[in-house]
Amino acid sequence: MSMTDQPPLTPSFADYMDGETARVQRVQLEIIEHADRSVLRITLPDGGVPIDWPLADLRLIPDQADKKAAVLGQAGDNPARVVVSDTDLAARLTAVCPNLKRRHKDPNVLKRLAVLSAGAVASVALIIFVLVPVMADQLALMLPARGEKALGDTTFEQIRQALTENTEYGLPLCDAPDGLVALNKMLDRLNPGTDFPYEINLHVLDHEMVNAFALPGGHIVLFRGLLKDATSPEEVAGVLGHEMGHVDHRDPTRLALRSAGSVGVLGLLLGDFAGGAAVLFLTERLIQAQYSRGAEADSDTYAHALLGQVGLPTAPMGDFFLRLGGDNTDEDTSLLSHLASHPDLKGRAQAAVDADQVGEVYTPVLSVTEWRDLQNICDS
Ligand SMILES: [Zn+2]
Repeated sequence: MSMTDQPPLTPSFADYMDGETARVQRVQLEIIEHADRSVLRITLPDGGVPIDWPLADLRLIPDQADKKAAVLGQAGDNPARVVVSDTDLAARLTAVCPNLKRRHKDPNVLKRLAVLSAGAVASVALIIFVLVPVMADQLALMLPARGEKALGDTTFEQIRQALTENTEYGLPLCDAPDGLVALNKMLDRLNPGTDFPYEINLHVLDHEMVNAFALPGGHIVLFRGLLKDATSPEEVAGVLGHEMGHVDHRDPTRLALRSAGSVGVLGLLLGDFAGGAAVLFLTERLIQAQYSRGAEADSDTYAHALLGQVGLPTAPMGDFFLRLGGDNTDEDTSLLSHLASHPDLKGRAQAAVDADQVGEVYTPVLSVTEWRDLQNICDS
């Protein structure tokens, strides 16, 4: 049966993406028959020169998210796509396009990235660096406390898994009983000055990195390395106050949503990128927790006020920052500590000293024995 036996295709409409901009255009489709070279004519709404795709070059693009629509492209590397939702039109195209079902060569991930034109890369960058953050910030405002808590619970377990080879249980939580008593005493000292929509869930993880970070929904994680590195419980209280500041400002929730959004966009684009690599990427983002300079300064200010309110000095927090800045001998090079990531540790240290309302005379946050118990919370 030759193509001329087919009744003419009445003009139909479809969605068209040029593969270079994020724009979706409603286009008109027609089959124009020539003796030697019949084409699918795509007429853009702007009334410019129509685009002709030879019918012999048309390919059905597999593995697209929308199973109900037929997604068409051209053989080769042209990133443009036509999405045909009209089933009659899709059937007609199947009938007239000889090579439609021929396997569309599916370049591997790197190749796929390589063939993205500069324009496509720019639009993906726009999505990841502009749209996702804006949407994440909006979403963070709408997310109820319960949702934040669930997000935090999940990411905490992912982090425990990512930080250890022990895939069955994840990185151990430190829970020596005397240490937990001391930890809770410290938290109780700071808590009356706070007003969170959820309980603070404070954990110590058995890891040597000198680090602490907050997760969505009130989780705060201290690493064993930080407790060992601190020279007084007031230094740890300062770090805890800082992380409570992040919780109060909901910085971890926005960060988690942004990271998850970026991972989602990359996953849509690259397909096989999803899975382990994506989770690891998300985990690293949360552990490093590189917030803006402004967000870090705000959390420091929060900590200064909180410590002052409960009668604790802020100068030790400054000492701790100075020591962090001094030794850059972090053994674990694959992860960068949230606390050390700030470029201006000296400035932060000075601000902590300047903010001190308490001085030398105060009720210590822990007794000498309790402090020792806290430092040894991972020995059980
Ligand atoms: Zn911070």
